[in-house]
Amino acid sequence: MKIHEFQAKDLFRDAGIPVPSGMLATTPDQAAEAAKGLQGPPWVVKAQIHAGGRGKGGGVRVVDSVAEVKRMTEEILSTPLITPQTGPSGQRVRRVLVEEGLDIDKEYYLGIVVDRKLESPVMIFSQAGGMEIEEVSASHPELVLVEPIDSENGFMPYHARNFFYSLTPLPDQGMLKDLASIMTRLYELFISKDCSLVEINPLVLTKSGALVALDAKINFDDNALFRHKEIAQLNDSFEMDELEAEASKHNINYIRLDGNIGAMVNGAGLAMATMDVIKLAGAEPANFLDVGGGASEEMVKNGLKIILSDERVKAILINIFGGIMRCDVLARGVVKAAKEIEITVPLIVRLEGTNVEEGREILNNSGLDFLVAKDIEEAAGMVAEQVK
Ligand code: GDP
Ligand code: MN
Repeated sequence: MKIHEFQAKDLFRDAGIPVPSGMLATTPDQAAEAAKGLQGPPWVVKAQIHAGGRGKGGGVRVVDSVAEVKRMTEEILSTPLITPQTGPSGQRVRRVLVEEGLDIDKEYYLGIVVDRKLESPVMIFSQAGGMEIEEVSASHPELVLVEPIDSENGFMPYHARNFFYSLTPLPDQGMLKDLASIMTRLYELFISKDCSLVEINPLVLTKSGALVALDAKINFDDNALFRHKEIAQLNDSFEMDELEAEASKHNINYIRLDGNIGAMVNGAGLAMATMDVIKLAGAEPANFLDVGGGASEEMVKNGLKIILSDERVKAILINIFGGIMRCDVLARGVVKAAKEIEITVPLIVRLEGTNVEEGREILNNSGLDFLVAKDIEEAAGMVAEQVK
C-alpha cells in the first residue's frame, strides 16, 4: 500500500526525522492562508498524488509570494498532473502540501528496501540525490552506496560511518551525527511499520547545515496491514485505478496494462504465460486478469464485466485450463456477463480440462458470437489478428 507525501512526513515527524513545516490545503484560498502561517518566501506548493516524478511534471513549485502560492495551487488542482509515473492521461490532484521553502546546499538520496537475494533489508545512500535513483544507479553506480542491515542486530553506528566516509569530498564532520540519527530512526520506522520501501529523495543539507527530509515516500507490505490499523486507514481509494478497485472488491487479481487485448485467465502462472504469447503474436494485453484457480460463475461474470467496461479493449481472449475450476462454470459465467453487458468486441475462447465438453456446449447454445481456438498459441494469433 502506498501513502501520500504528507502522510509519510507525519510518520517521519513522529519518528523524529526532521521535515519542513507545512500544511495541507484543498483550495487555493486555504493554500494562501497556509503560506501566511509558514516561514517564507520562498514557499513550495506540492501536488499530493502517489506517483513520483512530480517535480518534472510541474507538480512541485517553488514560489516567492502568497499570490503565487494561490495561483499555483489553482493550476495544480485544475489540471491532471502528468509525470513519468502517471501514464499519459495523468492523475487528478485533490490536495496540495504547502511548505516553507528551504535554502538547499546539497541533495542526498536515502532509502531502505528489502533485498530478496540477500533476504535482508538494505539501506541505500547516495550523494546524487534529487534524481531518479534508478538512473543514477545505471549511469554512476559508484555513487550508489548500499549497506545490508542484519535484522537481528539492527542498524549500527558503523553503517552510518561507512556511508559518511565514502562521500567525496567529505562534508563537515558535524553532519555525521545528524545523518546517523536520521538513518537509525528511518530503519526503526521501516521495521516497526512493516514497510516494503522508505525513501527520502532528496534528503537535503540546508545552507545553515541542517539535514531535512524534503520528500518522503513509504510503501507498506499489504500482508502486514492487519497489525497496523492506523496505517491501513491512510489508504486513499481515489488513487486506485477504477477497474483495479472494482476487481479487488470481487477478489479478482487485476492489473491494468497499456495494450488493447482484454485477457481473462485462471491462475497467475497461466495468466503470465498468456501475456507472453499475446506479445509474441505481436499484440499488447490491456490487462492482467486472474480469476483464480477455483473461481465461481460470479467471479467469471464480474471479471468479464470489468474487461468489457474498459473502452480500450478491442478484442478479448479467454484462456481457461479447467483444473480445480470447471469449464462449465466458466461458460455459465461468460453467458451471464453477456446478458448484463453486450459483448461488442471479438471474443476468442480457448478451453481445456475438466468438463470441457459441457463448457463448449453451453457456449455453443448461448447464441453468443465467439471464436474457438484449439491451443494457447492459436488463441493468441487469432486475437492479435482481430486488432491488426
Ligand atoms: P518529486 O519530483 O515527486 O520527487 O518531488 P520532490 O519533493 O522530490 O521535489 C522535487 C524537487 O523540487 C527537489 O529535488 C528540489 O530540487 C525541489 N524542491 C522541493 N522543495 C524545495 C525547497 O523547499 N526549496 C528549493 N529550493 N527546492 C525545492
Ligand atoms: Mn522526490
